[in-house]
Amino acid sequence: MTRTDALSFGSLPLPPATQANLQQLGYASMTPIQAASLPLALAGKDLIAQAKTGSGKTAAFALPLLANLNPRRFAVQALVLCPTRELAEQVTQEIRRLARAEDNIKTLTLCGGAPVRNQLASLAHGAHIVVGTPGRILDHLSRETLSLDALNTLVLDEADRMLDMGFADDIAQVIAACPKRRQTLLFSATYPDGVAQLAARFMREPQEVKLAERHADTKIRQRFYEVKESERLHAVGLLLNHFRPASTLAFCNTKQQCRDLVAILQAQGIVALELHGDLEQRERDQVLVQFANRSCSVLVATDVAARGLDIAQLEAVINVDITPDPEVHTHRVGRTGRADEAGWAFSLASMDEMGRVGRIDEMQGSPSAWHPLSELTAPADAKPLRPPMVTLQILGGRKEKIRPGDVLGALTKDLGLEGAQIGKINVNEFSTYVAVERSIADQALRGLNAGKVKGKSVKARRL
Ligand code: ADP
Ligand code: MG
Repeated sequence: MTRTDALSFGSLPLPPATQANLQQLGYASMTPIQAASLPLALAGKDLIAQAKTGSGKTAAFALPLLANLNPRRFAVQALVLCPTRELAEQVTQEIRRLARAEDNIKTLTLCGGAPVRNQLASLAHGAHIVVGTPGRILDHLSRETLSLDALNTLVLDEADRMLDMGFADDIAQVIAACPKRRQTLLFSATYPDGVAQLAARFMREPQEVKLAERHADTKIRQRFYEVKESERLHAVGLLLNHFRPASTLAFCNTKQQCRDLVAILQAQGIVALELHGDLEQRERDQVLVQFANRSCSVLVATDVAARGLDIAQLEAVINVDITPDPEVHTHRVGRTGRADEAGWAFSLASMDEMGRVGRIDEMQGSPSAWHPLSELTAPADAKPLRPPMVTLQILGGRKEKIRPGDVLGALTKDLGLEGAQIGKINVNEFSTYVAVERSIADQALRGLNAGKVKGKSVKARRL
């Protein structure tokens, strides 16, 4: 079809190479937030854009900042502030994918948790785009290892979350180091007063684009179950064994609840992992890799820990308790049923939480669908719920110049495994993670340990 409709990227003033790259990435049409913000942002306007997680906000600011960029000028021309290292890395990856059309655009991530020393070396090599957390960016500004004098685009991503995390002062200081003449793009999942104040202080006649959440558009099936406090955590196992979703995100209101739930699920033989703030960065990476590559059935998290994570293919969300804020409930539920896929959202509510459910009903404009726990029966011959994949960790990563193709080659060409049996391959700095189908995990592991990757012997283990 050559027709250009309102949702086609073809309707935007983007160079042909960029259009072709979008096609290659499988971005057939704009998401609603992209359709609403790109024409304004590409016209150079300051923008406040609000839409839920997973709606494609990254491309909505990445394409305009790339359009503002002069690749031949070796200076930082765009800065994206993000609340956490993970989000910064996700944004960096998406920018790199979108920038592929042009050669030699350098994007650098600057976050806490990584040694400043390495960052200095990368900065010395020059970067066009910097993505980072406010604290570390400020650190580099005060050391004068980063200059924003040539900046033309400033992006505040997940602005609400950055304010929640107490970054308001840091953000103000970073903005003070930016040139006055610039385009500022602010993205947020919600629009609290703090964000409005931030915008009023630092933006020039910003255009506002807000997309209300309309879950009726997606195929999320919501069910509520009344539980006694003593039944709550066990009810999660009942739900999983009855509906058998391959990937579930379970939300708890407290870290303690997360810990208890993971212990109970693991005791039932369910592969569940917890995502919380006390994890070391490496542990956190491993948890996310395993969940994203489908070798962990359930990720148990608090709202803070899970906010903003780009997790595709989520079959179910479970609200282990009911959140006091109906807007948070809507966000949690919105994590499942992305795009054209159907998703389940289950909520466990005790008598004490009925007031909260009432507020959710009010906000959603329809009464909740209640089901009894007694409905949840696993078939008698059911095998325990098992994730389809297993993660193998290879000691060695980017430092050893390993690329995904090297690992795929070792498994398919050298060991004769089917490409279809190999899942996601994540190459981190010191480790590589490869997901393989459960049935071939032992064979793949033995083969990797006996064979070679990129001409070298490697050590591999099952996570
Ligand atoms: P948000 O920042 O709103 O949470 P992201 O920018 O992380 O959302 O996008 C969510 C996912 O959707 C990403 O995996 C991204 O690659 C994908 N995506 C974004 N825009 C499009 C599009 N127009 N077509 C298809 N996929 C898209
Ligand atoms: Mg985002």
